[in-house]
Amino acid sequence: MKGITPDALFKYLKQLINTERVQALLHTVKRQKIFQPIFKIVPTCGARWGGMCYGAGTIEVSSWILKDASVAKGVVRHELAHAIQDFLNIAGRAHGKEFIQILKSIAPRKWRWDRHWHSTPAIQIARTKIHPRGRRTTLKPLTEYRTFKYAVTPITVGV
Ligand SMILES: [Zn+2]
Repeated sequence: MKGITPDALFKYLKQLINTERVQALLHTVKRQKIFQPIFKIVPTCGARWGGMCYGAGTIEVSSWILKDASVAKGVVRHELAHAIQDFLNIAGRAHGKEFIQILKSIAPRKWRWDRHWHSTPAIQIARTKIHPRGRRTTLKPLTEYRTFKYAVTPITVGV
């Protein structure tokens, strides 16, 4: 599988958020809140973390995961589920049944696969560059490290 660019991965996240099933989920929130997370491609979230989510506000993805488009998209779906769980104030363990339920709405067919990230030879090579065994992290840029702001287009209500 080919890699994916930061722009294309952000576009995928936006498309995902705009799907009917994810919008339906987001609209179950009681208070008037807007879901618009910041999306960051960072050198690494850690040697074992393909992505990381900070509340509902920020989703981070490790640069080395972009070496495989389908794995990277899986990480985005997984982190989006964490962000939505926080946004909806749904309690539960990090990967508990509540999380799985949200992941199922985001990825009805792929949720099982999305529970963990999956390594590929290209990812392994990229990951080892950033996390060399027994040596200091080199943090060589593997892709553009980027920050994207997801902004919801305001809906104009006619009066
Ligand atoms: Zn997780």
